[in-house]
Amino acid sequence: MNDYLLLREELLEKNRNLVGVVLNDKEKKADEYLQKIKQDFKEACDNDVSYKMPMLRDERIWQSSLYTFCKKLPKGADLHVHSKALLPFEYLFDFLMGRDDVYLDMKTLVMRHKNSTLFNDDCVLFKKVFEDKLLSRDDLYKKWTLLGKTHYQKVWPYFHNLFYYCNELEDDRDLCVAYYQRVFAYYYSLNIHHLEIHSMLKTDYDFSYNIVKSVNDAYLSFKKDHPEFSVRYIGAVTKAAFFTLEIAEEIMNVVYRLKQEIRDGDEDFILGFDLVGEEDANRSLIEYAPLLAKYKNDHPDFAYFLHSGESINPDSDNLFDAYLLDAKRVGHAVNLYKYPSLLNEYKDKEICIESCLISNQSLGYVKDLRLHPAAEYLKRGLTLVLCSDDPVFFEKETLVDDFFAAIVCWNLSLAEIKHLCINSILYSGLQSKSRNLLMKNWKKNWDNFIEDICQR
Ligand SMILES: [Zn+2]
Repeated sequence: MNDYLLLREELLEKNRNLVGVVLNDKEKKADEYLQKIKQDFKEACDNDVSYKMPMLRDERIWQSSLYTFCKKLPKGADLHVHSKALLPFEYLFDFLMGRDDVYLDMKTLVMRHKNSTLFNDDCVLFKKVFEDKLLSRDDLYKKWTLLGKTHYQKVWPYFHNLFYYCNELEDDRDLCVAYYQRVFAYYYSLNIHHLEIHSMLKTDYDFSYNIVKSVNDAYLSFKKDHPEFSVRYIGAVTKAAFFTLEIAEEIMNVVYRLKQEIRDGDEDFILGFDLVGEEDANRSLIEYAPLLAKYKNDHPDFAYFLHSGESINPDSDNLFDAYLLDAKRVGHAVNLYKYPSLLNEYKDKEICIESCLISNQSLGYVKDLRLHPAAEYLKRGLTLVLCSDDPVFFEKETLVDDFFAAIVCWNLSLAEIKHLCINSILYSGLQSKSRNLLMKNWKKNWDNFIEDICQR
């Protein structure tokens, strides 16, 4: 029996820490604490943990020590988050309550700026709506997030529609700059010190310029007091059929021109290009392949960060195109497990997978997060980062929720968590000077984080 137990322990050990991160003594102590608070959380729920991770619903999650651990964790970067979905509802609501130029259309519950061409007699000053109790905050919470979806409604049309409620966030320069300053302060407070914002731009150069310039101005102003904080931008276009390939190319030209115009000192502010939208319902990547391949050939400094593999459709093979088009990172890659040979290519080429657990669960790609394929990608040594995607619609706290879910559902060790945080810096689009600064500060914050745990 002793031999059996020895062999068993040997096998367990071989599967325990495959990411290769070696913990020092203090980190080992912190790892013990992590395992304890993970267990405490499960016991506090009588092991009745929903592996669907209902982040907006279950108070037991927010009140747990593990959730506090995830908040304080120096997370590095969030490399996949969409521009108008950056702030979770609670923070967006507070931001809008402080504005004198933001209104709510009481018929549609769409946010309107006072200078909007769609401003009408049904619009009431946002803060007045709630001060005068014309509507409850909870009613808006349901309307503006996935909380309001009933089980018989199809998720993607419902989700897609949510983007229209705050579509005017970037239309007015003052509002846009203030929004992004609030966003950056929020991310910083959660120990996320770098973000890469995926944002849809238009063929109208001036329109697109004004938005990116506002984001850049907000960032440079925030950076004055927080020099270790950085932001980068990824221009995107929808894969919806009504956007022709000609329009996609025009937008690529706009993004490329903006890349030369709007910068962060001597480094690029705009990193490259993405294609977004429901993968199974829209144009496939292969249709863009000739355009993207030619564009890359003509502009080798233009990187691709492509949504790909956000699908459980048996026919979906976009990940092959993302690979052939030399994507630096891919968003989701939920179905990469279906192609073992391609999976090895992703591993060898270190194509980074932006895994968005809460998003994947919320949009119905993975019903039980214990079965999320990225848990295995991590163990297999593929390059993986955790990202939040669209926190406003389904997260209580940006990226905190994704780490919490991964720790509980994938039973992560501190070594694996550390590995994910470091990856988010190493596989960011930052050039070496900024990346080194980010890493240096992250290490300092990580050591302080470990020290705090050990001193408990
Ligand atoms: Zn996305």
